[in-house]
Amino acid sequence: MMDLERLEEQLAQLPLYGYFHIDPQTLEFSDRIRWICRHECPMYDKTWACPPGVGPVAECRAKCQSYQNCLMIATITEVADIADINETLATRPEHEAITNQVRDLMREQGVKPYILSTEACTICERCAYLDGLPCRLPGKMHPCVESHGINIIPTLEENGIEFQFGANVVTWISLLFY
Ligand code: SF4
Repeated sequence: MMDLERLEEQLAQLPLYGYFHIDPQTLEFSDRIRWICRHECPMYDKTWACPPGVGPVAECRAKCQSYQNCLMIATITEVADIADINETLATRPEHEAITNQVRDLMREQGVKPYILSTEACTICERCAYLDGLPCRLPGKMHPCVESHGINIIPTLEENGIEFQFGANVVTWISLLFY
């Protein structure tokens, strides 16, 4: 069993906008999100962190819902112009680093979370997926939340997180299932 009180004390030290305890059964999975990946994302079929490499939505759902608990963490960063994709994406490594810090805090307690975070995996210069090879760092890479068919918007609303606080605030979310 994880010592939640200890974890929460540690989370309070991190530059998080907030953290939220989610029941994995309440997450909304939808093939519509997968449709958006397939038709609108340039990373579709390019990394193990994205569809179809992550498997069908039903399998992703079963995997996420095989866990009893989920910790959702959120970071927010103000940028000069949210329409500037480069500037917006530049805020992502910091969020990923914080996600890994939270992972390490959970691991210290003997808990190995299954993690979904943001965007496609960029750990390797060229993803092994493109060469038909297995992921080189399966313990380190995190598929993105959307890759699993999760529509995170209702969960954000239920927890009082607006996706955009102001015109130029970037919000990143990670889910840590345990
Ligand atoms: S760790 Fe490397 S091989 Fe694995 S998904 Fe990321 S980029 Fe691809």
